[in-house]
Amino acid sequence: MHHHDSSPAPRAVLFDRDGTLVVDVPYNGDPSLVVAMPTARETVQGLRDKGVPIGVVSNQSGIARGIITREQVDAVNREVDRLLGPFDVWCVCPHGPEDDCRCRKPRPGMVQDAAAALGVDPTTVAVIGDIGADMGAARAAGARGVLVPTDVTLPEEVRDADLVAADLAGAVGLLFAGAERHAVVADDAARDGAAS
Ligand SMILES: [Mg+2]
Ligand SMILES: [Zn+2]
Repeated sequence: MHHHDSSPAPRAVLFDRDGTLVVDVPYNGDPSLVVAMPTARETVQGLRDKGVPIGVVSNQSGIARGIITREQVDAVNREVDRLLGPFDVWCVCPHGPEDDCRCRKPRPGMVQDAAAALGVDPTTVAVIGDIGADMGAARAAGARGVLVPTDVTLPEEVRDADLVAADLAGAVGLLFAGAERHAVVADDAARDGAAS
């Protein structure tokens, strides 16, 4: 299938943190364990060079669960900002699944808040993440989502994503160069996911 996507380039790009910008260390409270994901540094720098506002939207339920403190999360975020930033906006959801908050992805609160902080409409924003909740938050906010699967991404999350890329550079490439190749990329990723 050859699919032509004429969507305009996004006005801002929001990233999930764990498993997207940096290697996912579950409930990480230790800045020394922060490691950038492949192509993260040059991709984020490329957006800054283009003048595209960038932000981070991160579920951190470890705070609600009492596993890590907000101060530890902030320390890890500062390290991510030092390695890859500066990011123009940071949004963290400290709640757990039981809290029924508006911000925990797949709810749209953080995408809406980040867009507001950047002065753009949520429907003009793109969200890049590694799981279905990231794509759900994007969709619920009227934003575009690009999935960059990792080992934890479920095959159905790959199947359901509108756009899929192999890495962050590929994700931004899809958003800014048109997305006509996305159907092919998604098929490949779905096959890889189903085989694992
Ligand atoms: Mg993630
Ligand atoms: Zn929340």
